[in-house]
Amino acid sequence: MNEDMMTEAERASKLAEPAGDAVAAPNRGKGVYYVHTLGCQMNVHDSERIAGVLESDGYVPATEEQVIDKDIDLIVMNTCAVRENAAERMYGTIGLWARMKRERPNLQIAVGGCMAQLDRQKIAKKAPWVDAVFGTKNIGSLPRLLDQARMVGEPQVDVVDRLDYFPSQLPTARASRVSSWVSISIGCNNTCTFCIVPTTRGKEHDRRLGDILAEIRQCVDNGAKEVTLLGQNVNSFGYGIGDRYAFSKLLRACGEIEGLERVRFTSPHPAAFTDDVIAAMAETPNIMHQLHFPLQSGSDRILRAMRRSYRSAKFLDILGRIREAMPDAQISTDIIVGFPGETDEDFEETMRVVREARFSSAFTFEYSPRPGTPAAAMEQVPHDVVQERFERLVALQEQITAEELAKFEGRDVEVMITGAAGKKDSSTHRVTGREKTGVLVHIGVPEGETMPEVGDFVTATVTHAGRHNLIADPNPAEGQTYHVRH
Ligand code: SF4
Repeated sequence: MNEDMMTEAERASKLAEPAGDAVAAPNRGKGVYYVHTLGCQMNVHDSERIAGVLESDGYVPATEEQVIDKDIDLIVMNTCAVRENAAERMYGTIGLWARMKRERPNLQIAVGGCMAQLDRQKIAKKAPWVDAVFGTKNIGSLPRLLDQARMVGEPQVDVVDRLDYFPSQLPTARASRVSSWVSISIGCNNTCTFCIVPTTRGKEHDRRLGDILAEIRQCVDNGAKEVTLLGQNVNSFGYGIGDRYAFSKLLRACGEIEGLERVRFTSPHPAAFTDDVIAAMAETPNIMHQLHFPLQSGSDRILRAMRRSYRSAKFLDILGRIREAMPDAQISTDIIVGFPGETDEDFEETMRVVREARFSSAFTFEYSPRPGTPAAAMEQVPHDVVQERFERLVALQEQITAEELAKFEGRDVEVMITGAAGKKDSSTHRVTGREKTGVLVHIGVPEGETMPEVGDFVTATVTHAGRHNLIADPNPAEGQTYHVRH
């Protein structure tokens, strides 16, 4: 897998087009596979496990050309239940793949992830051409299910609700050499009324600290320079064994790992964001000052209805303490507009908090009911009202984002290179990557300099702030910085 190639959407639509002439791959192993991933980082990382499990069983990842030619033996869809109309979107896509299966009868189709966890029997019934349905807790069963489906000629469904082993024990085919995801926990003990995650992922299970650190060391040995710690609620890590300081201890332990340059994590919950975590972030040099801090609403009444256990004053107080300890921190957020019962006054509270919080960016969502969640049964806000509020919020946040990005102009930033910026045009001499606090930076390589490679660190002067990213086109002759560290 390569992050610089076609997007998921482009690949999925390629697969839905009529087939061209297939070109035989030199090594097909047990079959050529392609994983189509929907949803959050957790799912992206689960797909790395799915790929690892398949490759251990002899499958070979599809090349870009094989996706274009639809020369594939196995398609796995790793589904998400969080997004709007998740079921319709899933059935729509696997319906398109049914046509492909008619053209290639030996093609196998598997469906995993959160929708499979929720809708297991329904998928097999509604889409009988799907060969295997597996859940979030038994990714390792996939090769066996595919073998059985091939042998008996019938769809195989195996979704378990109990977590018998942590998926991190499974083999992994990582998408990036230099940036690795590492799970620290799965599941969530909270009960936010809009969220389906506690149903699809279950109660929180934390990994052992030693296992997490061993996996991080292994990633670094394999070339990773950056690690992102993953969990639905990372800062409640350790609460299950009564250690309220376990997450900050983990961050400080990451600081001891030689060769590990950058550590990020997602997502923390504002309710449990304690001073020991802020201190660990501020005092451990390789923990980046980047934080995704989901507000959801600025109205205390709505936060209560959402069953979010903090209030707006506490949220802003924590932000103040974070910024006092780390003035350069970039803080992003999630906000839901039009949660059931949201009044104009409630929405104005959200606008007030957004003005005060000055988030670097925000993922803003118009509320849409997720079947099976308590909020789905509450009285909904009319769509036109939600849309008008949404547009006002987006406009406000765009303005704040632009103002915050403008502060970078003229500053030197250190960027870890993740790829070429103009991927379709190699003549641009641009590379791209993230600076320490996570902002995307496109760098113009000065004439006469060799192109930096993925994983190199480039320090460059920011010459222009875009709407969502930074441009660094430094001219060393004018005293601007351009420096590469391998
Ligand atoms: S904290 Fe709330 S929103 Fe986040 S995963 Fe848990 S239940 Fe869902």
